Order: sequence, then structure tokens, then C-alpha cells
Amino acid sequence: MNYISTRGGMAPQRFSDILLGGLAPDGGLAIAERYPRFSLDELQSLASLSYPELAFQVISRFVDDIPADQLKALIDRTYTAKVYCHGRDPAQANQITPVVRLDDTLFIQELSNGPTLAFKDMAMQLLGNLFEHVLTQRGQEINIVGATSGDTGSAAEYAMRGKHGVRVFMLSPFGKMSPFQRAQMFSLQDENIYNISVKSMFDACQDMVKAVNNDAAFKARYKVGAVNSINWGRVVAQAVYYFKGYFAVAQKVGEPVDFCVPSGNFGNVCAGHIARQMGLPIRRLIVATNENDVLDEFFKTGGYHPRGLDRTYETSSPSMDITKASNLERFVFDLLDRDATKLAELWCGVDKNQGFDLAPEVFARMHDEFGFRSEKSSHADRVANIREVFQRYGLQIDPHTADGYKAAKAHRDTAVPMVILETALPAKFEETMREALDQAPQRPVDLQDLEAQPQRFDVLEADAEALKRYVAERVPV
Ligand SMILES: *Cc1c(COP(=O)(O)O)cnc(C)c1O
Repeated sequence: MNYISTRGGMAPQRFSDILLGGLAPDGGLAIAERYPRFSLDELQSLASLSYPELAFQVISRFVDDIPADQLKALIDRTYTAKVYCHGRDPAQANQITPVVRLDDTLFIQELSNGPTLAFKDMAMQLLGNLFEHVLTQRGQEINIVGATSGDTGSAAEYAMRGKHGVRVFMLSPFGKMSPFQRAQMFSLQDENIYNISVKSMFDACQDMVKAVNNDAAFKARYKVGAVNSINWGRVVAQAVYYFKGYFAVAQKVGEPVDFCVPSGNFGNVCAGHIARQMGLPIRRLIVATNENDVLDEFFKTGGYHPRGLDRTYETSSPSMDITKASNLERFVFDLLDRDATKLAELWCGVDKNQGFDLAPEVFARMHDEFGFRSEKSSHADRVANIREVFQRYGLQIDPHTADGYKAAKAHRDTAVPMVILETALPAKFEETMREALDQAPQRPVDLQDLEAQPQRFDVLEADAEALKRYVAERVPV
């Protein structure tokens, strides 16, 4: 399997080459040159597989430069009941992504049972093992420099902790994360994890990371890399749970199932699109947004108009506070029948913050051929829906999943199973949960005294040069 760039300017590469890279050299995103397809017979034979077996069947179709037995061992080591142990029913932990039934055709698929209680662990844990494998094979190292306001940073740290050849330098805004999120990251004692608390806001952290990446000489000398949501390995690993969820709810393999996905950077739902292109009978993919509704606007009007930070709102589903959905480029590439020239034209506008409007006939295909729908929510919706799910079904859901619940209700057809993807656990969002339910959210037993653990972090000024010095002092060259 070879990988090309959505903008047409990259010589075909293998999986291991694009795994460690960021953007393609032409500014586009790496994508499989075609999607492997499962026939109905093949799908039937996958239906009863365990999560790691299924993951191997799906992922190995995209990865042919890691020997099959080694890939299988990495996958088996990743998807264990011990790693994904935070689900509602401990007896279901070996399902990895257990499905909870709300009514005859409405389901929640638990994707947030990993170490950091958010769905990012589904892909990031595998990425940690893949990175270690590829780096060891090549005798290379990587130093991940990133900024986080919450979920991504902790998922990356828990995936990379203790991995050979990898160091993580993670910036976060001083005093701006919740005590739980801070404790999650800062309590890690692994030597290859560096928590850097920056005396400023999240934007300033991002600017520092950008400045490091813009310094080509520094970047090359200190082998600086990233694990952001455009990473192809993450997208592929996420396609697996759509298969798992499908088989859990379909009465018969071949019948349609709808999925509803709380979205930000479009990474999660892009994986759903890929599963669908691989032949999984997904009928609709419903994109749920919060008040930051660029994606809802796109799927309702065909106009994609990313917004600046001045028009990005801080909401109570903070991991969806994104107004430029990087992975959308991959879907639009497919929508344009993989016309890289056309895609490059559109994204040239996006890179200049102008956006674009699709031609009406192309817009119609998003709905008719690719099955996309969308819906947005407000804070009041989230609170009301968290309450409704608790009262009706006795389940606590987090604010992001509540955005999904609202969108699922808006697009529901009770004749077709609908799976809402649970992207985080309520324990991470105590304030909103209290507002909705007048009680603290449930918290997994092993994390009860998380905030009492010793914390390890350094404080830096919001200054890119200070960050470069910090990295240089810790990376032998
Ligand atoms: C990252 C995240 C999302 C958004 O996922 P994308 O892949 O960026 O669309 C939604 N909910 C939670 C809890 C997240 O951490």
C-alpha cells in the first residue's frame, strides 16, 4: 500500500515513512492511494472477531511494510482489557469498546475506557507502540513537541511514556487546566515525559510550538516531531471501532447502521468515512458540533469557512472548540473524486483563511452518496441532554457525548440502529456534570486519589527561545 498527498505533490511512500511525518511536503495530508475493500462475505467472517483480531484485519490492509507477525504482536499488546479498563461494566472490558443499549435501536459505544478517559487513547496507544517499533528498526529517535489544553496532550503522554526513542515535551497553559487534567499529566514520573507549564494562555503555547517547527535547523538537529490529529496512523486505528460497533448492533451483516460522532478536527468521523469506503454498510455519518459550528455549516450549506481564534468560543465541550478541521481535507479529496489539483485550489483558499463554497452538485453528493448529516448544540442543550440520558436510562454521559446524543436524536430513524460514539467519560468534566445532575460524576476507582499524587513539571515563560533552550538541554545530539 502506497501513500500519496491530497495535493498531489508527494512521491508515493510506505506506511512507516508517513507514520512519523506531519504534513506532506506540498502542505497536503498523506492518504492511502486507494481504500482496501471488504466484500459482504469477508465482512461476515470478521463479525465475531475479538477487538485485537479485528484491528489486525483492518490495519494490516494499510500496513505492508511491518512484518505481519510483528504488527500483530504490537496490536495484541495495545488492545487489552487492562489498558481499556475504565468502562461502566468491568465484565465487558475485553470488548475494548463495549456497546451500551439505550433502546431497541439507539446505542452508545464506549470509546473512552483507556488511561486518559477520552477516545484519543484508542489510536494513540497503538501509535506509541508503532512509533517505538519503527524507531527501533531504524535506529532513530523523535522528540515530540506539542501544546495541549487537555485531551490530546495527556493521551500522547500516556501512549509514549517509557517508549524507547521517544521524548515528549508537552506545553500547557499555567493554571488553565482542570485539577483532574493537570494531575493526569503532571503525575507521570517517566523520564521521557516533560510537562512544561507556560505562564500564559493556550494560544501562546501553540505559538511557541509553531516557532520551534518554523526553525528548520533546530527541528532537524533535535529531531522534532508531532502526533497531532492529522497523523494517518491515528485515523487508521480509529477505523477499527466502527467495524466493532457495527457488528455489535447489526442484526444481520449487510444491513445499514448510522453513526453519530462528536467532532472537532474531523479525525474521528474521517475514520468512519474510511470504514464506509472499505465496504462497511454505514448509512449515515452524523457530525455533531458545539457552538463552534464550522462543520455543521459545511454539511448544511457546502460552505467551509474556518474561523480565527477571535471567533472560537470556549465551551463546555472544550475538545470540540475547533474552528479549522484539519482532517476535512481528506474527505473533500474523496468527494472531488481525488482530483488533487482541484483540492489544492480549494485549500489554497483555506490556508489564506478564505474558505470555499462547493458547487451545488458536489454538495448534494455529500448527503446522497457519502451519507453525511450534521447538527450543533449549545451549553443549554448539553446540560438538558445529560439530564435526560440520566433520567431515562440511568447513565452518566459527558458533555461531548451529549452533543452527539442531541445530533443523534435530530437525525434518528428508529428502523435503523444508531450508534453514538462516547468520546470522553464524565469524570473529566466535573463542573458541567454538577450543573446538570447536582452531583459529582462517577470516577474510576483507580483514579480516586489522582490529584494527591506527586506532580512533576517545569514552568517556562511564553518565549520560544526559552523552549528551544529547554529542549536542547535535554536532547543529546
Ligand atoms: C478530540 C475530541 C473530540 C473531537 O475529535 P476529532 O477527531 O478532533 O473530531 C471530541 N470529543 C473529545 C472528548 C475529544 O477529546
